[in-house]
Amino acid sequence: MEAQLKAEFPADTPPDDIAATPSELNPALVAGLRDLLGERFSTAPADREHHGRGESYHAIQPPQAVCRALSTDEVSGIVKLCAKFDTPVVAFGAGTSLEGHVAARRGGICIDVGGMTRIVAVRPGDLDCTVEAGVTRQQLNAHLRDTGLFFPVDPGAECTIGGMAATRASGTNAVRYGTMRENVISLTVVMADGSIIRTSSRARKSSAGYDLTRLIVGSEGTLGIITEVTIRLYGVPEAMASAVCSFPDMGSAVAAVTTIIQFGIPVARVEFLDSNAMRATNKHSGLTLDEVPTLFFEFHGSEASVAEQAELVKEIVADNGASGFQWASDPEARAQLWRARHNIHYAIQGMRPNARVWSTDVCVPISALTQVMTETQPDLEAASFFIATVGHVGDGNFHLGLCIDPTSAAELAEAEILNERLVRRAIALDGTCTGEHGVGYGKAKFMNLEHGDGVRFMRMIKQALDPKDILNPGKILPAA
Ligand SMILES: Cc1cc2nc3c(=O)[nH]c(=O)nc-3n(C[C@H](O)[C@H](O)[C@H](O)COP(=O)(O)OP(=O)(O)OC[C@H]3O[C@@H](n4cnc5c(N)ncnc54)[C@H](O)[C@@H]3O)c2cc1C
Repeated sequence: MEAQLKAEFPADTPPDDIAATPSELNPALVAGLRDLLGERFSTAPADREHHGRGESYHAIQPPQAVCRALSTDEVSGIVKLCAKFDTPVVAFGAGTSLEGHVAARRGGICIDVGGMTRIVAVRPGDLDCTVEAGVTRQQLNAHLRDTGLFFPVDPGAECTIGGMAATRASGTNAVRYGTMRENVISLTVVMADGSIIRTSSRARKSSAGYDLTRLIVGSEGTLGIITEVTIRLYGVPEAMASAVCSFPDMGSAVAAVTTIIQFGIPVARVEFLDSNAMRATNKHSGLTLDEVPTLFFEFHGSEASVAEQAELVKEIVADNGASGFQWASDPEARAQLWRARHNIHYAIQGMRPNARVWSTDVCVPISALTQVMTETQPDLEAASFFIATVGHVGDGNFHLGLCIDPTSAAELAEAEILNERLVRRAIALDGTCTGEHGVGYGKAKFMNLEHGDGVRFMRMIKQALDPKDILNPGKILPAA
């Protein structure tokens, strides 16, 4: 397997050059952190292990200590101490990332901001709000329930708004409402020397200088630690309706989506699940949907526009061979459908005892989606383990959930080949190695292939903002 991998991908950059055993923490650093945080400084093995893994298939790499911060000033104090002792700092939100993002590759300190859960301000008149980094999207939407507003970005895990900004996350609603890139207005960030900055004002547009907000969004804790996030809010639509329909094959489902997007129909959600994903979903969520390639839709708007969108979509899917267009208009039926979609990761995991899901995502221009998915199909059919395909296909983004035995070297090697082939196909079609999960260290080896000489300039930015390389070292950028 390894020989095959090397033969097929000779140009890959090695994943990293990280030392296996970090040196002991400096006792003066430990004393300083204990003074600052008291019992919120922990070296308990279980705590360290929990903070060194995330939800990915990667091995655990625990930090040497965990600091639970409760304010921007505390984060700044911790980073200042770590900078003084050249000690790595890894930010941690909810630990749901999928590419080894939170692994402490050089040891050091984890700053867990999950306790920073204050909703600082909700401003209905400006359709925005400011929250501390540890607020989860579910907590925010529960808080907003009586205001007629909501925050739409919805990864399929209970994660923090700070973590979502750090990974430039998105979800099922991105086709209509955009990703964190479009929805973050401003950030409060602790920089590598402990300075605290605000990346911009709350103005909806600005031509004043470099766009630090968008530099930090997606930087995965490698350029600064986000402590507050100001984000856009939206009015809850007057009407919403969901529907599912089945297709004879993947190609016709994807062709239908491509037509819907190219016609400019403003669907709020359009999600693809292949027959394996449907099998896993039925089993996990107790549904009885047909186990064939399927699209889940949601429409938002006025009663009239929802009816109009749905009618147009119904025509397009019928032209592409769809059958069994089923409506879920009442809130409970809709919620059940989308809960099932959101639980797909765990549904795939449940298809095999003691399995772990290697979840990989790529994204291509919508016109290339059919090609990349069709070319990937033979790899899926040849695999020795269960794989399900799901996708936020309206964005040209899809995921493979590889249900592997993480203790099997043969399966890990097979999964790696499959992943590499997928990523190379996507990049060859002017796509990206990850549409939303981010790079962590799992996908760092694809950065040269995707960005070419652009990586050199990314290194310069990293060097300028974090000259001691203490912020989440070994992530995003491949070994030089
Ligand atoms: C079941 C499942 C479904 C998922 N579905 C989606 C999906 O649909 N779309 C999607 O985009 N992702 C998805 N993900 C991935 C994951 O949920 C997102 O990447 C999420 O944004 C991570 O947030 P978190 O709070 O868990 O961050 P963590 O995992 O704790 O951290 C992620 C990265 O961000 C950094 N970080 C965290 N907080 C901060 C901060 N305050 N400041 C600076 N850096 C920080 C960390 O150092 C790390 O590099 C899914 C994951 C799972 C397990």
